[in-house]
Amino acid sequence: MKAAVLREVKKPLSIEEVEISKPGPHEVLIRTVAAGVCHSDLHFVEGHYPHPLPAVLGHESAGVVEQVGSEVRTVKPGDHVITCLSAFCGHCEHCVTGFMSRCISPDTRRLKSDKPRLAATSGSMNQYLNLSSFAEQMLVHEHACVRIRKDIPLDRAALIGCSVMTGVGAVMHTSKVRPGETVAVIGCGGVGLACINGAAIAGAGRIIAVDMQGSKLNLAKEFGATDVVNPKDGDPVKQVIELTSGGVHHSFEAIGLKQTAEQSFRMLGRGGTANIIGMIPVGVNIELHGADFLGEKKIQGSLMGSNRFPVDMPRLVDFYMSGKLKLDQMISRRIRLEDINEGLEELKRGELARSVIMFN
Ligand SMILES: [Zn+2]
Ligand SMILES: [Zn+2]
Repeated sequence: MKAAVLREVKKPLSIEEVEISKPGPHEVLIRTVAAGVCHSDLHFVEGHYPHPLPAVLGHESAGVVEQVGSEVRTVKPGDHVITCLSAFCGHCEHCVTGFMSRCISPDTRRLKSDKPRLAATSGSMNQYLNLSSFAEQMLVHEHACVRIRKDIPLDRAALIGCSVMTGVGAVMHTSKVRPGETVAVIGCGGVGLACINGAAIAGAGRIIAVDMQGSKLNLAKEFGATDVVNPKDGDPVKQVIELTSGGVHHSFEAIGLKQTAEQSFRMLGRGGTANIIGMIPVGVNIELHGADFLGEKKIQGSLMGSNRFPVDMPRLVDFYMSGKLKLDQMISRRIRLEDINEGLEELKRGELARSVIMFN
């Protein structure tokens, strides 16, 4: 099968022929239909986060089940599925206490002694985040995909697999936004827009979008932002505090920068919670004013929206089908696998909401 491979950091991905194994007892072979190009892929290309190479990147995808292992009961050939990088084992402490998105058990991967899921025509090939979606097929653990209804187009469904789950989940699960509360979202890319949309669905009273690009702020309004703040017009922290007379209940940092992470904490009102979603590069420290803790302000990480994806993703599909979840506007371009490097370049420039690779 054809796949986009990262062989060296800071270098373009190469389109290569990659071998894929057959499903083991708990595995599912999926024909990839659509794969979003996500900022996290870029972090690995640029080497901000380490990963064994060579690897097939891609982790935001949807497709059709082709073949299942002997023990798989949750999906069957022909089913439409969304994949999720939060593969869960189902029996570790995180899984059995209801925090399956924190699962780091190796039980969802093949044993080192087994034949790997992927192989290069000569030499080895690493699977990325248990998925590797920039490829015509994916071989995943059965707990890394979920069946969905067939009336949602799979390019829209793919977005639910990472950015939308991450953004909506951060609002609903990680920070538990209640109706009427105030929310600020820093960064209006795919994840930020999903946060805004999630806050609107959750019934937030004020939803303040913060971004340097006017075009993204306009898009943010379509997704449910009630107010927009452009840091080019002055300190965004001051602007948010003024708009909410004292600071927000929940802030969401969806970029992954030291400066914006610190701002997300400073724009809280007393008792507020800052959620860091963006991937802050390894080795970067953030600084907070100790006195702010007297106001019971909290700061926490949010990973993949603290999801319970087999339950959450079909619900998000229902939200889309009923018009509450906006996915059409999130796709700025549909590209071919061969154009993946352009998609990554555009993401770097930060203008687009999202490119989606279509496999035909
Ligand atoms: Zn992602
Ligand atoms: Zn587990």
